[in-house]
Amino acid sequence: MGRYILLSDSSEKRIAEESARSYGAHCVRLGDQTVVWTDSEEWNAFTNKARQAGVSLDPAETRELEGQLYLVIQTGRAFQNTYPEARLVIEKGRYIVVDLLPEEVSRFAESKDDWWAVRPLAMDSVIMDIVKPEAQLAVPRVQAKIEAVSQSRYSSSLSSLVNFLTRHSLSSQFTSAATWAADQFQSLGYQVELLPINVGSGGSYNVIADRPGTENGVRKLVLVTAHLDSVNLTGGREAPAPGADDNASGAAGVLEIARVLAEHSAKHDLRLILFGGEEQGLHGSKQYVSGLEASERARISAVINMDMVATLNTALPTVLLEGAPVSRTLMEKLAEAAATYTSLTVQTSENPFASDHVPFINELIPAVLTIEGTDSSNINIHTANDTLDHINYGLALDIVRMNLAVTFRLLGVNESQSP
Ligand SMILES: [Zn+2]
Repeated sequence: MGRYILLSDSSEKRIAEESARSYGAHCVRLGDQTVVWTDSEEWNAFTNKARQAGVSLDPAETRELEGQLYLVIQTGRAFQNTYPEARLVIEKGRYIVVDLLPEEVSRFAESKDDWWAVRPLAMDSVIMDIVKPEAQLAVPRVQAKIEAVSQSRYSSSLSSLVNFLTRHSLSSQFTSAATWAADQFQSLGYQVELLPINVGSGGSYNVIADRPGTENGVRKLVLVTAHLDSVNLTGGREAPAPGADDNASGAAGVLEIARVLAEHSAKHDLRLILFGGEEQGLHGSKQYVSGLEASERARISAVINMDMVATLNTALPTVLLEGAPVSRTLMEKLAEAAATYTSLTVQTSENPFASDHVPFINELIPAVLTIEGTDSSNINIHTANDTLDHINYGLALDIVRMNLAVTFRLLGVNESQSP
């Protein structure tokens, strides 16, 4: 049992956060809000000390905790839709904080197909941050690639993918979509492989496209990835599943990066992967990672994953970079590229969940998910309504530009050359 108060973004909040720590309370930040809590007995001592330090905490804003605080990470609003009775403390897109009794923890933690995870709330941590890196001087060779990103080419790839009635991993249409994507990579000059994978008792494919670097000896390997499959959770595997945002938007982004980088040569190796079996439990990426030789694993300098990049759920176009301590440097590079080459607002989190970046992170390979901000507001995913009508090209193309800029630089090009 305890008490908590929510502080919204302001200088007052920063002071309150600091004094909370020094006066024995705990605090956790999610974007522009912080929750501060203590045991019931310690609350008065904490608020008295805070008041003496000049921080006023409105008693009317104080709430009683029935149980303990937990972090829930969810796909869409899966957790909230299943347990509308859960006592919500903060809601920030895919991350929510809830107040749970022990019996609720054991009941609510059960999730069919990993649609959510219930985790103890790490005390005094930042669950999700809003970062504002300084824009750097644009590098002309990078800028030239940024300007080569084409809305009409992106939109044409997106439409082609959405036009398959479904891209359910176990459908014949998925195989057609994978073959179509492989043809696209091949016509751009990439070496392409359709790698069979298991999805339960059935079979599907990962599409893998390679562009070797020019350096002699051991080269690094940069991966740009997205899942190609879609799903309609209320229909069967033949039900319409256009998956425009989830995840034709990311797959079309990989194809657009492939197109822009098709002509250039770089020191290091580029590998583009469209995974199958994501919606049934990350089968494509799990099997890809477990099949990697140790030497190949060690060569991977970055994995940039796109999953749902094209629905505007926020007032300002926002990208969430979700990684882990192993991918902190990559997240910093992406945030800096966003500030330099796009108008994106950037959120970061080190709570990786439920997309193809997770199997890489589990093996300590630096991977980051790039995803539209506040993705849980997107109620159309996994239904027949995930159509082109809801696509925001400005947001999608800015996320593609950010990822392209970092990929290009990681591949090692001579940046002093003229474009
Ligand atoms: Zn997805």
